[in-house]
Amino acid sequence: MRTGRLFVVAGPSGAGKGTLIAELLKRYPKSRLSVSATTRKPRPGEKDGVHYFFLDKGEFRRRAEAGEFLEWAEVHGNLYGTPRRQVEEWMDRGYDVILEIDVQGAGQVRERMPEAVTVFVQPPSLEVLEERLRRRGTENEEQMRERLRNADRESLEKDKFHYVVVNDELHRAVSELCAIYEKESRRLDG
Ligand code: ADP
Ligand code: 5GP
Repeated sequence: MRTGRLFVVAGPSGAGKGTLIAELLKRYPKSRLSVSATTRKPRPGEKDGVHYFFLDKGEFRRRAEAGEFLEWAEVHGNLYGTPRRQVEEWMDRGYDVILEIDVQGAGQVRERMPEAVTVFVQPPSLEVLEERLRRRGTENEEQMRERLRNADRESLEKDKFHYVVVNDELHRAVSELCAIYEKESRRLDG
């Protein structure tokens, strides 16, 4: 019996998904963040098994073919996927599981687990997005350009989500995401 609820949080790179989710996780002990697998190289300070499971392409493909991912996609030239087992175990134990994934992955989850609650995090504008990505400083110029190009395309998908949270003022956006979480995690149906 699956008693926890699944939340998908998607949106362009730099929109603030990680920042908003970190605030949510601090507030709700019943929430857990799924750790994804990726073929991207670790950034300084990123730890295997904590931020991501870092895999080479061969191992990633093997796991994808074995059906070990709930969803997976190529994003900005790297492969990313959600390990299925951890998500299912946590939901069975009553935890609400948060997936921080891209819009393609969100589409796959929507098909496979239609009861999942989906939230799109939108930056206030492309200019602000660029400024935040620049300030974060985790990508080089070319990688940043690619993320900005993809942001436009990803934003076209936002109408497919249950909720859109505009991440303008951080406190306000955190309150909005928490209100969605509280409402949806208490729902008894679906
Ligand atoms: P994502 O996980 O969507 O890629 P991050 O959470 O890493 O985005 O946020 C991108 C950058 O913007 C980070 O440096 C973060 O500190 C900053 N940031 C996030 N939300 C806000 C906000 N509301 N106002 C200003 N800066 C923000
Ligand atoms: P980053 O390289 O900045 O950590 O992540 C880049 C993009 O990959 C983000 O949009 C992030 O949401 C997405 N991503 C991270 N993990 C997953 C995953 O497991 N599946 C999918 N589909 N996308 C993911």
